Amino acid sequence: MSKTYLIVAEHRDGKLRRVALEALRAAADVADEGDAIHAALLGERLDGLAAELAAYPLAQVHAIEGEALRHYNPEAYARALDPLLQSLRPDGLFLGHTAFGRDFAPALAAKLSAGQISDVIAIERDGDETLFVRPLYAGKAIERRAFTAYPQVVTIRPSNLPAAEPRADGLAADIAKRSADHAADLRTVVREVVRKTAGAIDLTEARIVVAGGRGVKSAAGFRPLEELAELLGGAVGASRGACDAGYCGYGLQIGQTGKVVTPEIYIACGISGAIQHLAGMSGSRIIVAINKDPEAPIFGIADYGIVGDLFEVVPLLIQAFRKALQ
Ligand code: FAD
Repeated sequence: MSKTYLIVAEHRDGKLRRVALEALRAAADVADEGDAIHAALLGERLDGLAAELAAYPLAQVHAIEGEALRHYNPEAYARALDPLLQSLRPDGLFLGHTAFGRDFAPALAAKLSAGQISDVIAIERDGDETLFVRPLYAGKAIERRAFTAYPQVVTIRPSNLPAAEPRADGLAADIAKRSADHAADLRTVVREVVRKTAGAIDLTEARIVVAGGRGVKSAAGFRPLEELAELLGGAVGASRGACDAGYCGYGLQIGQTGKVVTPEIYIACGISGAIQHLAGMSGSRIIVAINKDPEAPIFGIADYGIVGDLFEVVPLLIQAFRKALQ
C-alpha cells in the first residue's frame, strides 16, 4: 500500500531553512514509487514561502496561517497541525533536528503514538529495510536504527543530507491554505522573540565557520575572526571555553552542549580540541586549526594545521583572502 509522508518545513525571517529541503530529500529517500510527500508550513503570511516550496517534488503544500503561529509555540503549532494530521494520516513525519524540530517532533510523535528516530545524518537501505544512521556518545559511535512500525517521526541533522532539488519539469505542487486561529484559548503565548546573536548567517547552516576559543583571550579578540568570517561569507562560532570566559554569547557555542555544525570549512582559532567541542564540529568537511601549542589535540583531527599565534595568523589570512578575492 502506498504511503504518505509529511515534512514540517521550517522557515525563518521569510526564508525557507535549508534543512527543510534536506528533510524533503530524506522523505524522498525513504519513499517508494507511488508514495506521496506533502509539506506543511506554519506561520503568518506564507504565500511566498508556499509558492517557493511548491516548486519542489511534492504532492501538496499545506500553508497553515494564524496570528498565534507568528512565533513557534508548541501548543499553538500542534493544534494548528492537528486537522492536517487527522486528514492526511501520515505514515512518516520529517523535521530538521533544530531547536524547533527537537522540541516539536517528540510532541508530534506522542500525538501520533509514533516511534521517533532523531538526529539522523544519513539514510541507508539494506534490502527492504530503511536504516537511519545517527551519531551516539558525542560522535564517538554511529548507530543504525530501523522502525518496526508506522507512523514514524524522523529529525534530520542540518547540513548532512543533500537538499532536495526543484522539479525539473517546472511544474508546481498544489497549495492548500488553512487558517488556524485559536489564539484566545492558548495556555501560553509567545509575546516576543529577541535574537541574541545578530549574525546574518545561521551558524548551523553556514558553509564556512570561523570559531574562536579561550585562546582568543577577550571579546575584542573575536574581531579578526568576525572579519575573516565576513570576508569568506561564513559565520562565527566559539568553544565553550570562550563562552564561559565571557568573550561571546552562548548562542555561538559549538559542541556537545552547543550547536552541531558541519560546514565545508571549519577554522578553529585558539581552541584546544576537547572531545566535547569535537562532538559539535568533527563532521566538518575540511578542518583548519590555528593553535600555538603543537601538541593541542585539535591537530589530531585537523586537515590543515597552523602552529602559531592566532593574532598573527588570522590577519595574514585576511590579507591573503582579500588579495585572492579581489
Ligand atoms: P582551552 O582548552 O583552554 O584551549 C585554548 C587553546 O588556545 C589552547 O590549546 C592554547 O594552546 C590555544 N591558544 C592560546 N593562546 C593562543 C594564541 N594566541 N594563538 C593560538 N592559540 C592559542 N566545550 C565546547 O567547546 N563545547 C561544548 O559543547 C562543551 N560541552 C561540554 C559539556 C560537558 C559536560 C563538559 C564537562 C565540558 C564541555 N565543554 C564543551 C568544555 C570542554 O571540555 C573544554 O573545556 C572546552 O572546549 C575548552 O575550550 P577551549 O578549547 O577554547 O579552551
